[in-house]
Amino acid sequence: MRVSPNGILTVDVEDISCANFPLREAYPPEEKNVEKGVKEILALLASTQSRATFFILGKTAKKNPALVKEIVKYKNKVASHGMTHRLVYRIGRKEFRREIQDSRKLLEDISGERVTGYRAPSWSINENSLWALDMLQEEGFSYDSSIFPVKNFLYGIDNFPPYPHRRGKLWEIPPSTLPFPGKRIPIGGGFYFRFFPALFISQGLKWLSQRKIPLVLYFHTWEILPPAKLPAYSLLHQLIVTYNLSSLKNKVTRILKMGKFVSVEEYLHA
Ligand SMILES: [Zn+2]
Repeated sequence: MRVSPNGILTVDVEDISCANFPLREAYPPEEKNVEKGVKEILALLASTQSRATFFILGKTAKKNPALVKEIVKYKNKVASHGMTHRLVYRIGRKEFRREIQDSRKLLEDISGERVTGYRAPSWSINENSLWALDMLQEEGFSYDSSIFPVKNFLYGIDNFPPYPHRRGKLWEIPPSTLPFPGKRIPIGGGFYFRFFPALFISQGLKWLSQRKIPLVLYFHTWEILPPAKLPAYSLLHQLIVTYNLSSLKNKVTRILKMGKFVSVEEYLHA
């Protein structure tokens, strides 16, 4: 019997300095840490019989093609996170098109598989850069996972449908939220996922599953395996990236054990 998935798991493969916060001093990217983080996540997926989509930067894939091959070896998928982690609403249309074309070609050449998905750096498709969705369609992508369905001081669009849905030919896969009077509560990843206790997230998973909505989770490689030295961010930005970091791996493991988690591609096929 086919069991329908309870969740979609996504991983952003990148160094902690990609968070797009101003740095007070230079921070050399910890590429080795990224590689180790991916390996740790692959082991976690194997132990919980889960699969994930890994949004990987073109510059990382170029430096470490073996990592892309390692990801796709066990039915996990790779998708584009652009080439350079520059924000979509800053780079403009011409550069954006080049980034999605180049990153997809690179990932397809290395993996030998079709690459159909995209996630913008730091959720940078917002009201000012919705043209990017048209461009993804024109370039033949099947899905996008770039729009955070709650607006905060960094990104997001309020009132954006908070579950997988179609816009023309493109599927939108936003990270999960729960309804709350007056405001949605993001539970799908990042600071919010680390902030809320595992019990709250697991109740959210049950609530969504009852409504046949998948829990769309995301986390970064550096959240699973934090680097030895943190970048010199402001205190607020340091708090955002490090809050409850040590709890993340256990929490993710606990949630993955509660249901069936698959890649975006596998979910869309089902
Ligand atoms: Zn990113």
